[in-house]
Amino acid sequence: MTLSEQSTDLDGLAAELDREYVFHSWSAQASLSPIVIAGGSGSVVWDHGGKRYLDFSSQLVNVNIGHQHPAVIDAIHRQADLLATVGPAAANLTRGEAAKRIVARAPEGFSKVFFTNGGADAIENAIRMARLHCAARGDVGRDKVLSTYRSYHGNTGAAIVATGDWRRMPNEFARGHVHFFGPYLYRSEFWATTPEQESERALQHLRRVIQSEGPATIAAILLESVPGTAGILLPPPGYLAGVRALADEFGILLILDEVMAGFGRTGRWFAFEGYDVVPDLITFAKGVNSGYVPVGGVVISEPIAATFDDRVFPGGLTYSGHPLAAASIVGALDAMESEGIVENARRVGAEKIGPGLLELAEKHAAIGEVRGEGVFWALELVADRTTRDPLPAAAVAKVKGELVARGLLPFQADNRIHVVPPCVVTDDEVDQALAIYDEAFAAAL
Ligand code: PLP
Repeated sequence: MTLSEQSTDLDGLAAELDREYVFHSWSAQASLSPIVIAGGSGSVVWDHGGKRYLDFSSQLVNVNIGHQHPAVIDAIHRQADLLATVGPAAANLTRGEAAKRIVARAPEGFSKVFFTNGGADAIENAIRMARLHCAARGDVGRDKVLSTYRSYHGNTGAAIVATGDWRRMPNEFARGHVHFFGPYLYRSEFWATTPEQESERALQHLRRVIQSEGPATIAAILLESVPGTAGILLPPPGYLAGVRALADEFGILLILDEVMAGFGRTGRWFAFEGYDVVPDLITFAKGVNSGYVPVGGVVISEPIAATFDDRVFPGGLTYSGHPLAAASIVGALDAMESEGIVENARRVGAEKIGPGLLELAEKHAAIGEVRGEGVFWALELVADRTTRDPLPAAAVAKVKGELVARGLLPFQADNRIHVVPPCVVTDDEVDQALAIYDEAFAAAL
């Protein structure tokens, strides 16, 4: 057998094993035919046969540092040689170094990190901390959490019920979660025509929801700083600061979910830094170590951390602060800092991706709106620019198929293509991708 026959065989074997034994997320299982990915480097992945794809999905918008960054791989190797696992009750140098680096990037007034296995359980624990903190300050009866319909917060008990999108409904067994509409000028719920109007009216709507639910029953408002899967909905001017003011007025805590938007995606360490707001709790995962080892966590502000100084926090995880995850965080954050990776995301977004996508929108009528920043962009696809009716699913699937056929892995959600490459993407790779988007739209529509 030649090398290339063997490789094709491995692709076939990977597909066969997957079909036979692997149960996939969020899918009916029978008709799946996933792409085989065997290796990667930077913004590119390939199968066993060497077919290459530009990864403009960053997998699940998490590989911020790119595939196989040597500093992260090396940090994991070194930690595996030293101590591959350790219980959460022990003190461990690498875990402490990881927590210190995360706190150093948070605003003043944040002091501790609770590590989890991923984003969803970060949300679970942030909600729990908020409720317990309210109770500890004598505010009993505050258990509700307000979050937006256009949101995704994860796939565990409270996180999936806090989620606003369709995935909540078949899982809605927990009470205490109330949803409201956040700002989204392109499809405004508030008949707004300017970002300022959208912001003001969305805040008035939230005030009415708080008043109608009873402020004394609400522990927290939970928001993605920039809603990601829901469409990369950059908050309009004043919105997040206005939410903070409402939360303060009614004694409610503010949890900002930075799982997708954090650690470089927007061209800033935390997305909320661009919006004049400081939350009480920050949840993170994905970009903190680019998913080389599963990890997430909650960054805790001093008053909430102090609640648990002499009071037991009734929560924990076997793998909280796992040393391989901690090592990968140290490796990733140090490399992102020393190599200017967050700055690259900011520059490439402003100079290349944004202008390039706007040019595409001039050529293709199906692109109703281009929005984003850093390496966090959405193309909102429409059947008609005047009515803004979403492009039908079959047509979106066609675009996606044409992109994959041309060697680009897209991130698609509803009627949108999200343009979300790693933060290390080069100008040349962006040019290649823009040419592929252009060809794919022309071929599909
Ligand atoms: N929060 C946000 C904003 C997310 O985008 C996600 C996942 O996409 C989650 C939470 C859940 O993270 P995980 O899938 O690591 O549990």
